[in-house]
Amino acid sequence: MSTNLTHDPSLRCWVESANVPGCDFPIQNLPFCVFSEFDEEAVPRGGIAIGDQILDMAACADASLFGGRAADAVFVAAQSTLNELMSMDQDHLSALRAEVSALLSGDGHTYRGIPLPRNILYPMDGAVIYLPTRIGNYTDFYASIFHATNVGSMFRPDNPLLPNYKWVPIGYHGRASSVSLKETVIRPHGQTKAPNESAPTFGPSQQLDYELEVGAFIARGNALGDNIPIGDASESLFGFCLVNDWSARDIQSWEYQPLGPFLSKSFATNISPFIVTREALEPFRSPVYARPEGDPAPLDYLNDETDQAEGAYDIQLEVYISSEQMRDAELPPMRLSHGTFKDMYWTMAQMVAHHTSNGCDLRPGDLIASGTVSGPGKDERGCMLEITRRGAEPVTLPTGEQRQFLEDGDEVIMRGYCEREGSVRIGFGECRAMIVAEEG
Ligand code: CA
Repeated sequence: MSTNLTHDPSLRCWVESANVPGCDFPIQNLPFCVFSEFDEEAVPRGGIAIGDQILDMAACADASLFGGRAADAVFVAAQSTLNELMSMDQDHLSALRAEVSALLSGDGHTYRGIPLPRNILYPMDGAVIYLPTRIGNYTDFYASIFHATNVGSMFRPDNPLLPNYKWVPIGYHGRASSVSLKETVIRPHGQTKAPNESAPTFGPSQQLDYELEVGAFIARGNALGDNIPIGDASESLFGFCLVNDWSARDIQSWEYQPLGPFLSKSFATNISPFIVTREALEPFRSPVYARPEGDPAPLDYLNDETDQAEGAYDIQLEVYISSEQMRDAELPPMRLSHGTFKDMYWTMAQMVAHHTSNGCDLRPGDLIASGTVSGPGKDERGCMLEITRRGAEPVTLPTGEQRQFLEDGDEVIMRGYCEREGSVRIGFGECRAMIVAEEG
């Protein structure tokens, strides 16, 4: 894939909010969501974010605005989940993007001589947003070597990075049912054991954490028994979102050996509601992280020239926190970290190739997540565990409150965007949720 007319920085949209500099959803972005009105009778359907509005795929389909492959694709995009859209080939997806771009950069009254229906746009802040797909499977990787080294150094000071790390894109099967857009996360209960105690106790987690990650929705996928070769793997990525992979560190450290995290992760995973397509991200591809001298080259099944040259994505990521006291004092959220997604040790394509290398099938609408995105700098650590060194160096909030881990009432806000000379900035919107003690 390459850039095309839909990426043209000179494109303007008749939805004025899309032309405001710094807007997450200019006409060059066009991310997908599933939405409806606030109405019990409302039918969820696909939409595309444009400025502060959502372009209704069902209204576009009903009005027969598009022709050819785009007509087929918009009909599928109008469904209540995007799984089937994600099973379509790239020609259909690109055709739909091209027509939507032309529609939104047109005169705002007609398209191809057809009057635009009055209900073609819906205000984002008045919409109910749903999970974009029925997520069949969720896999969580561990692809930042900085995160792996930081965390490893706390649990195994003399052996921070396990010997498989530079050879295998490490991952585990996450829980798909608890991936959500919910605005609150209930503090999980679980078994924990302090090192100086002889037996564990059961109760609310005292070390609740977030993890800043990037997620990818799987496009066409593969049949059981087949593999997706590394050279084709990027085509299996439909698009990207932000992921907060909540983690209960005290539950995790007691349960994780020998089979890995279980209840410490499965209680909640939040995603941002808009999926930024691979095509929209085309101008922001980057060479992969340069492995330090002495690190092994990826094995052949993970090594592809194109992937090495441009398989990383230059996505800027930020995490903010807002406590109840901060909101009471009308203080803005405080930034906890920022970093870039381009310095991951493994690319998303390598994750897909590895995931399917044993014949495991990935399906359209499945979610894979990158693992916590951390960088080498102190202000680039993508979770509280790293930022506070497992509580040893608490963070001070603008109110003077201290945080080792998250408290009830803390809201975690993740943002992502891409900026590059010669391109229009595009954003991911927010992944935002608050910790509560119990369902309100
Ligand atoms: Ca994770």
